[in-house]
Amino acid sequence: MTEVFDDTDAPYLAWLQEHPGGYVLNRRRVGSRNYLVLHRATCYKIRTYTRMAQPEGFTGRDYVKVCSPSIDELHAYARTKGGRTDGSFSGKCRTCSP
Ligand SMILES: [Zn+2]
Repeated sequence: MTEVFDDTDAPYLAWLQEHPGGYVLNRRRVGSRNYLVLHRATCYKIRTYTRMAQPEGFTGRDYVKVCSPSIDELHAYARTKGGRTDGSFSGKCRTCSP
């Protein structure tokens, strides 16, 4: 099941804890709406706060997180709601190599 986290980091961070094998699409709230970058749930870039990135730095500011245990479901999200008719992502994180 795909879940979208928009506004509050706590439930998002809880989801990461519960789905260590899951995947996260990082989506921009405004601007390039078809920016969709895939990460593993374990990637520090989408779960570790820097001094600049809190509070609600993961889901409440410039980005929304779309989470699923399945990459296929995230491709379906990209196709139906992500503005990418071919269901592709705009990129994959080079740090976690999903
Ligand atoms: Zn990553």
